[in-house]
Amino acid sequence: MPDKTCQNCGDNEDTLFEVYRIYLKLDLDYFDPDMSKIIESKAERQSEMWCSSCCNTYPNLTKSD
Ligand SMILES: [Zn+2]
Repeated sequence: MPDKTCQNCGDNEDTLFEVYRIYLKLDLDYFDPDMSKIIESKAERQSEMWCSSCCNTYPNLTKSD
């Protein structure tokens, strides 16, 4: 059985999820610590396999099909 490795943190995990990484762009002129000033978000076109911890920590879109 092949090892499954999270493409974000590199940990070996039993369960990985196929997701699209989302890049967030903040309005740095009005930066606030709540990160409420997100002016743009862009999804990576290439999907990646992430562990559940990364899915909960970093912005991403779950692959739907
Ligand atoms: Zn991970």
